[in-house]
Amino acid sequence: MTSLLYLGAALCFVYALRGLAHPTTSRRGLAAGIVGMLLAVATTFQLPVVQGHLPIIVAIAVGGVIGAFIAWRIAMTALPQLVAGFHSLVGLAAVMVAITAFYQPEVYGIADADGNPTLASLIEMGLGVVIGAMTFSGSLVAFSKLQGLVSGAPLVFVGQHLLNLVLAMLMVASLVMLAVHVEGVYFWSALALALILGVTLIVPIGGADMPVVVSMLNSYSGWAAAGIGFTLSNHLLIIVGALVGSSGAILSYIMCKGMNRPFLSVILGGFGQGDDSPATEGAQARNVKAGNADDAAFIMKNAARIIIVPGYGMAVAQAQHAVHEMAQALTQHGAHVRYAIHPVAGRMPGHMNVLLAEANVSYDDVLELDDINNDFASTDVAFVIGANDITNPAARNDTSSAIYGMPILNVDKAATTLFVKRSLGAGYAGIENELFFQEKTMMLFGDAKKMVEGIIKAL
Ligand code: NDP
Repeated sequence: MTSLLYLGAALCFVYALRGLAHPTTSRRGLAAGIVGMLLAVATTFQLPVVQGHLPIIVAIAVGGVIGAFIAWRIAMTALPQLVAGFHSLVGLAAVMVAITAFYQPEVYGIADADGNPTLASLIEMGLGVVIGAMTFSGSLVAFSKLQGLVSGAPLVFVGQHLLNLVLAMLMVASLVMLAVHVEGVYFWSALALALILGVTLIVPIGGADMPVVVSMLNSYSGWAAAGIGFTLSNHLLIIVGALVGSSGAILSYIMCKGMNRPFLSVILGGFGQGDDSPATEGAQARNVKAGNADDAAFIMKNAARIIIVPGYGMAVAQAQHAVHEMAQALTQHGAHVRYAIHPVAGRMPGHMNVLLAEANVSYDDVLELDDINNDFASTDVAFVIGANDITNPAARNDTSSAIYGMPILNVDKAATTLFVKRSLGAGYAGIENELFFQEKTMMLFGDAKKMVEGIIKAL
């Protein structure tokens, strides 16, 4: 019966992942995930091995209230650090279970005749503890960088990769010694080395690459859980750990592809300046054509085809509802209005899709880069709101640029490009955008939401 219920829960989780991959099915996916988790917890709860139900209920209630409160209060732009923070807890939980299993193997039914953990269990537990410890400390570093508690800039020093290699080799050696000698000193040295390695692996990674790292740590936390699933002989934990581990790895791959950055170069670090950096002095000295809401309304009223390109700034300003209202007004004026989504627009995958769905924008009007990029050439106005890097032609033309090779939305091919942003400041990658200074570009300086509201009024 337990196996069947666990299988049901596992199927719910598979369906949840499938559902969450598209906005139209994401609510159903979420519901499936909740049902699966309820089934998993309830089934585990009635297992004979689970003792002391009251403290567990209290722990679930306290954790649930804290989690719900945080989730309720969090701004969507702060989700990456929230996810990093929560992953650190998954890593910590894996470490805690491994410590308990190492000292009381009989409780978990993994003791040999001498009362020590069996060899197979030691290997599983050892992997669980080191991956869990790396996830824990690495996620804390990622959280601190994203939250601005420490600088988001990459921390690079001479001999960094050598240091990581030596630490990793010492960690593996400790695990081998643990399997051979079953002594606490090796267990703790592997744990300590993994904690240090988690920090040294993440500090060189810059702000712009951080979301990839969060997704990678998500993957690690899954593998740590799977390792602990073996220790606990819990099939569902193994399955769920593997689902999280592989989906996190695939997501990291998709993000790297979206940025055209090799995964290895993300992991080795050194790229990205952290946060939006101010305009360079050179940029300030150059001429730009600036307009206001009335100018923008006039241009767009006379346009037949308009493509809206949202980016991180739209999320910061929470301008999605106003943008939808503006698009509806333009449609009433007879314009054909669509939205173009870059795979890494914003600060997490699907960021723009979620915001536009929240504002009830029809999914049919929202197109991915590959499906709409050729249409810019036959478009009257590209309306870029709070986006920067994802339109920067340096990615296309400048071989020395850090974002060279990243596919971009071809907004410069439209007859007119309108940019809504507060200044000439750079985007997350810290690179100046040539488009601001081009003849066909008009800058609309101001907060995204206020500017769009002004345009609606003028329309
Ligand atoms: P960018 O960070 O390039 O640019 C956002 C722009 O928004 C800034 O230049 C800023 O300019 C403007 N802005 C900020 N606040 C406001 C506001 N209130 N009103 C108006 N404008 C505002 O964002 P993009 O979406 O173009 O690109 C995403 C970046 O994040 C890429 O570099 C990508 O590689 C990176 N990234 C994204 C990931 C993802 O999964 N989505 C993952 C990894 C990296 P100003 O200060 O002048 O207003």
